[in-house]
Amino acid sequence: MKNKLGLYIHIPFCASKCSYCDFYSFAANDSQIDEYIKALIKEIKNWSEKCTQYVVDTVYFGGGTPSLIGGDRLVSVIKAIYSEFNVIKDAEITVECNPDSINEDLLLKLKKVNVNRLSIGIQSMQDDMLKALSRRHTAIQAKNAVNLAKKHGFNNISLDLMYALPNQSIDMVLDSLNQMLELEPTHLSCYALKVEEGTPLAKQNPILPDEDISADMYNAICETLKNHGFEHYEISNWAKNGYYSKHNSRYWDLSEYLGIGSSAHSLFNSQRFEYSANINDFILGVKPIEEEKVDGFSQIEEFIMLALRTSKGINSLDYEQRFNKSFKPIEKALKKYIAHGLAQNIDNTWILTETGFLVSNAILSDVLTSIE
Ligand code: SF4
Repeated sequence: MKNKLGLYIHIPFCASKCSYCDFYSFAANDSQIDEYIKALIKEIKNWSEKCTQYVVDTVYFGGGTPSLIGGDRLVSVIKAIYSEFNVIKDAEITVECNPDSINEDLLLKLKKVNVNRLSIGIQSMQDDMLKALSRRHTAIQAKNAVNLAKKHGFNNISLDLMYALPNQSIDMVLDSLNQMLELEPTHLSCYALKVEEGTPLAKQNPILPDEDISADMYNAICETLKNHGFEHYEISNWAKNGYYSKHNSRYWDLSEYLGIGSSAHSLFNSQRFEYSANINDFILGVKPIEEEKVDGFSQIEEFIMLALRTSKGINSLDYEQRFNKSFKPIEKALKKYIAHGLAQNIDNTWILTETGFLVSNAILSDVLTSIE
């Protein structure tokens, strides 16, 4: 049987920078974008020779803003993937979009090449918040974009929400969330704003909601989404039954994925590697740099950290089989959190509760020190 592989394609272009963003992305002209697409297609061909033993079951276009480069360019990359890789019939194919670059032409073209999932960065449904983050769209534009996508038959739509924004109250978070829920997404990713050093937002030295208010916001999001039938399947991700992100799930269970494009990361053939965060290097054909052989202790650490962020948790028998190591020390460390309502053990599977997710950093550092 062939192994399964996820493909990640990085599109590092944005119309302008959001004030909080420290990702590798920038505004480019048409000829730079075209050159990059040519390089992407070339690299897809190069990789296909090493992937004959794989079937691709997820493809994810992330960025940056993939929707910004338009339907024709995205279609040319997707067609290259179809012709070079063995993509299964019902593969999950996701394109990240921003509301201001979603239009009829893009949607029609993506639909024709079987893109079946859109991840739309909305962040807030309040115009003053959007402005403070230097987002390029308004709440009305976001609504119209989602409705247009639905009209064109996209029924698997994920929306991004940011909370703990400067001068934001819990009511404001819930107002945004409720407006997003009216758009009937199948999936929501909700992240607290992190002010990254060197960003324009950091220079403004904004006053953010304190830790307690931020925790209350998280709890309010959890409760609202539970009441709307969403499953909390990862610390920052919720989905309707059957709509978990298959692609992102492979990051959390250490399944193989190949990232192509500047700054894209991979976990392939037990190795981690990444391309340089410079599109000129990528265009010139500079190969990715190997980070490390993923084995031994670091793999165990990573497995625990990722698994405890999900509702699948860690099955002790699976752990022992995977690493040929006793789960007992980890069990001992996790046991003490049950009484505080932070962890639970169901049929040998250890899972953090939603309250446990909130303090997961402290729990993880305790659990990791228990590994022998
Ligand atoms: S759209 Fe996304 S990647 Fe682009 S600047 Fe804003 S946050 Fe960063």
